[in-house]
Amino acid sequence: MTVTPLRLDAVVKTYEDVLAVDGVDLELAPGELLALVGPSGCGKSTLLRSIAGLVAIDTGTIHLAGALVDDGRDHLPPERRPAGLVFQEHALFPHLTVADNIGFGLRDHRTDERQTRIDELLELVDLAGFGDRFPHELSGGERQRVALARALAPSPALMLFDEPFASLDHNLRIKLRHDVAAALKATGTPAVFVTHDQQEALAIGDRIAVMRNGRIRQLGTPAEVYHQPVDDFVAAFMGTASFLPIANDATTVLGPIDLDGAAPADAVAMVRPDDIVFTASATGEAEIVGAAYHGSGWHLHASVHDGVDVYFTVGHLDAPAVGDRGTLALTPGHCQVVVPRR
Ligand code: ADP
Repeated sequence: MTVTPLRLDAVVKTYEDVLAVDGVDLELAPGELLALVGPSGCGKSTLLRSIAGLVAIDTGTIHLAGALVDDGRDHLPPERRPAGLVFQEHALFPHLTVADNIGFGLRDHRTDERQTRIDELLELVDLAGFGDRFPHELSGGERQRVALARALAPSPALMLFDEPFASLDHNLRIKLRHDVAAALKATGTPAVFVTHDQQEALAIGDRIAVMRNGRIRQLGTPAEVYHQPVDDFVAAFMGTASFLPIANDATTVLGPIDLDGAAPADAVAMVRPDDIVFTASATGEAEIVGAAYHGSGWHLHASVHDGVDVYFTVGHLDAPAVGDRGTLALTPGHCQVVVPRR
């Protein structure tokens, strides 16, 4: 029988008068990587710390690997929970070697078993041969790999990451997040990642939980939260989007959309930048009002009929300039109706 690595039921946490987590239900599948995203202050860290045992919840229950660890009255301390933690500030023991840092949680193992496990983990995080170094002899990315190996050493039922790559530069961050996801998949270890970076969430999450005001607004695959957001908050949070008013005849300023029946009241059509096609035309209804170069192409902002803001991307060749005009069309089938909740 497979054990659910993590289950939260109606979890609530307040700090004095701040309701930080407001009734969260969540269940992780074995081996699943979940990215927890949302704007600053939405309760991500509080939720993660509640799972870790660093924060005691008010009400609700938390089960780790089938065992109750918090029910609002009894809170199992972090060191007795089967969870490994990696935080942004890779808190390695500075006076211990890499090998001893990784082996720290394996002190009750036999010496030879301990060494075998350390070697396995060094291999897993691509640091074979680094065992005798001290933390100050490592780069930031290498230290973060050691922190990962140390947390994985006791084979935790679940890994918890709080902004683990935030202190690293862009390229290293992208490499490390893929390496970490690969190491978790290789060991079948499920994990919850807190990140403020939508691209990171989309890149490594099997599912993404988008939080707002202490609640999960949407839980879904990366494609679902990006292309089928439940509301305009999720749509805007996960990346650039245009929101087009829908007329009674199911048309927008960019043309007709596919609608199953009538659109709900207040609904708008949500379109991602890469689902819009621009054709230059001096008499077109769209005027380019903003342009930003991003290497492989341009992010463009157009005003259509002098009022509706539309955001789209084009390749680096033939990009229109601010003041140019043109027509914009929707890629058929790529537009989603959402109901604003702001
Ligand atoms: P996030 O990680 O999404 O930025 P947090 O979980 O850190 O959000 O915070 C959620 C809310 O709880 C915020 O309003 C924050 O100010 C408040 N909060 C967090 N930690 C504490 C604390 N130790 N004491 C009081 N309020 C806190």
